[in-house]
Amino acid sequence: MEKIDILVVGAGFAGLRALYKFRSIGYKVQVIEASPDIGGVWYHNGYPGARCDVESYDYSYSFSPELEQEWRWSERYATQPEILRYINHVAERFDLRKDIQFNTRMTQAKYDEMTAQWVVRTESGQVFQSRFLMMCVGQLSAPKTPQYPGLESFKGEVIHSGKWPKRKVEYAGKRVAIIGTGSSGMQMTPVIANEAAHLTVFQRTPNYSIPAANAPVSDEEDSWVKANYRERRERAWNSPTGLGFMPNKTSALDVTPEEREKAYEASWNRLGFGFALTYYDILLNKQANDTAAEFIRKKIAGLVNDPVLREKLTPKDHPFASRRPSVDSGYFQAFNRDNVELADVREFPILEFTSEGIRTQNKHHLFDMIIFATGFDVFTGSLFKPEIVGRHGMTLKNKWADGPVTHLGIGVSDFPNMFIVVGPGSPSLLSNVLVSTEEQIDWMANLVQSMKQQNAVEMEVDPQAEKTWGQHINDRVKETLYLSTDSYYNGAEVAGKPRVFMPYSGGVRGYRRILQQCASEGYSGFRFYPSPAALTRSEDLAKA
Ligand code: NAP
Repeated sequence: MEKIDILVVGAGFAGLRALYKFRSIGYKVQVIEASPDIGGVWYHNGYPGARCDVESYDYSYSFSPELEQEWRWSERYATQPEILRYINHVAERFDLRKDIQFNTRMTQAKYDEMTAQWVVRTESGQVFQSRFLMMCVGQLSAPKTPQYPGLESFKGEVIHSGKWPKRKVEYAGKRVAIIGTGSSGMQMTPVIANEAAHLTVFQRTPNYSIPAANAPVSDEEDSWVKANYRERRERAWNSPTGLGFMPNKTSALDVTPEEREKAYEASWNRLGFGFALTYYDILLNKQANDTAAEFIRKKIAGLVNDPVLREKLTPKDHPFASRRPSVDSGYFQAFNRDNVELADVREFPILEFTSEGIRTQNKHHLFDMIIFATGFDVFTGSLFKPEIVGRHGMTLKNKWADGPVTHLGIGVSDFPNMFIVVGPGSPSLLSNVLVSTEEQIDWMANLVQSMKQQNAVEMEVDPQAEKTWGQHINDRVKETLYLSTDSYYNGAEVAGKPRVFMPYSGGVRGYRRILQQCASEGYSGFRFYPSPAALTRSEDLAKA
């Protein structure tokens, strides 16, 4: 049995950052990673056209000014291969690989209450013993494949965007299907359309999208950002989304239609996600939202030639950004090509897969390759894959049977000495997740240091604090339009999942202040124990 201080599960951006941080303050850290290499979602999502829709300079670590200065991003929005090169550079530069064990899938983590240790078992039968368990398993890492009748009978290739094969996938000259029009489907569509003989995109819900306006990074721009990097980071940390954009303080409804049009136009080809902050109330007020949604609909109308297609591709059934919009590079324009077809599954549902393709209610579509861009079991999918057992045999799955409960998205009562990074209850997917990741890990490290100073061996969330935080999450989201539609934010992406709003919508800046206040109050809502609480209880009982 290997004894360590911090067992980190997952070697994506979060796991590597946790390793770096805790190792640098003197803890023995072991990272275990189910995949053969580092990168997490960026290791697996190698589909054509995959790139980040947060600007490269912001979707990068801020902990090392040297790293910031030496890394040269080539494009405003980095491609998946470039991001993976960056992650590998970081791993080499800070000698991280030596503490990562690959091809190691955790099957169970069980908390031993008497010794205050996590006992972690892996698929191969290895056992680790660790004081802290740190879950860095990502929110978008449990791919979801709808189970259609006949799926197994299809003779061609079937691929999920979130488990893209490492070999070269040959789609040139082939008849290809993409199912799903979230960010992944929208990103790959124009790229695959360029080379496939025929591409059919199966759409259930039309999605809003903002043009990426991607461009190479010039030397001047690179020098400018590097000369001002601290200020840029400060802006990101203190902005609602962690993207550095401050919302316009004006309401979309307090200006003339002409002014509004001008403002939207100015944001459109420049800001990516920042478009949603053109006015502060776009996500707070339906009428304000309608003005932004209508602007996007007009833009789509200008991009798609065929009126019937245009109608089908236009999102109308939910407010803009109440579900995750995309940032695209030529998605709508791809439908003007002769080799691209839209299959609207609301109009003609998929009945079955056949050996040759997909049969919908109106047609038998023939394919050589079918790509599922159908997303993930978001937030909880990867946390529920292993069995996590806390006090009194309580499993995380049972604890969260009605939806996740946490204190600050960081800890869970009954699961002492366990941290969850950018999971439910934190800004997570409503933020630039790199900003939230670094913020949380540094804060957790301070908490662990504080425990050390107080000679505490065990930390556990107070159930009352958990209730208060859950209430706060609900109060904040009620101020927004997020609850007005089904989305993966509220568990609608998987049938039978509890319908609970999972991320924290109060913003990165607000969350940061809450974390700071919690720390200044001696980590309010977290109880520290000088010896295992269960041991003390059993000794007390014995004495009595
Ligand atoms: P997603 O946003 O969840 O989209 C899944 C798509 O598949 C949706 O269009 C969904 O339709 C459709 N779908 C699911 N089940 C279906 C079914 N049974 N039949 C027909 N259609 C079905 O997944 P994603 O595109 O992989 O993106 C997930 C998240 O990953 C993004 O929101 C983003 O946070 C992140 N991401 C980021 C980037 C980036 O940074 N550039 C790129 C890719 C992904 P409905 O909408 O009707 O459910």
